[in-house]
Amino acid sequence: MQILKTIEELQSIRKTITSNVGFVPTMGALHDGHISLIKKARAENEIVIVSIFVNPTQFLPGEDLDAYPRKDEADKKICELCKVDYLFMPEISTMYSKEEVSIKAPNKSYILEGLTRPGHFDGVLQVVLKLFGITQPTNAYFGKKDAQQLSLITQMTKDLFLPINIIACEIVRENDGLALSSRNVYLNSNQRQEALLISKSLYSAGALIAKGELDTNIVKNKILEIMKSLDVEYVAIVDREFNEINKIELKNTIILVVARFGNTRLLDNIWL
Ligand code: AMP
Repeated sequence: MQILKTIEELQSIRKTITSNVGFVPTMGALHDGHISLIKKARAENEIVIVSIFVNPTQFLPGEDLDAYPRKDEADKKICELCKVDYLFMPEISTMYSKEEVSIKAPNKSYILEGLTRPGHFDGVLQVVLKLFGITQPTNAYFGKKDAQQLSLITQMTKDLFLPINIIACEIVRENDGLALSSRNVYLNSNQRQEALLISKSLYSAGALIAKGELDTNIVKNKILEIMKSLDVEYVAIVDREFNEINKIELKNTIILVVARFGNTRLLDNIWL
């Protein structure tokens, strides 16, 4: 595995590659969720590029940019073990100049995650577009865990006619159901225990729907009832385009939940 810090190095290598390139962008502190994306990329492409970059433009003032977990040495080992070909770890000054063209995410980026984090998705799309420009992947891998992000990146790829396949990857969970996240390290043991109610509520919603309940209000109430002891930020039931729906459509519905534990927001969802 080669570790690259500059855009010039990666671009000159990229020019020599004629086979399929699988790309996995991450912010590091790699866990089994990230590893599942890397393994899928490894299985489906001749060349695999992973990036680790804690992107400042997607953090709002006062968010955890400075505190975001950084584990560069462990991450390098994980990538090596996963047989990554190129690990791209740029500095902020390598990725951004002072005044540049900006990306504006569509209006639907201001609901749900974007309501609490206005402008967050502008930063996400900006960095992903830059990384796509540098790596020019055939296939790019994203987790369903960040469902709204995945939807907006898919839309950007379509709207800007980028010749890249966006591959959606399943959510990886702990054995007890908690969705893996780099931010889980912020939880104390009580919060870690309470957080299980999130996946429990989603599983119960899934079971209710499997029994034939398609009314979104009833399903939402079930979720809220299970999570009543938590600080729930939102429960939303949307179609794949992120329009709120009243009736669950099988194979076209995502149920999203966000709960707060102190300053830590935990996201989870299920795709029906
Ligand atoms: P991050 O480092 O948080 O920016 O995440 C990098 C990629 O890993 C994104 O596409 C995430 O959606 C994905 N990811 C994060 N957590 C999980 C998980 N538990 N299961 C699957 N993918 C995940």
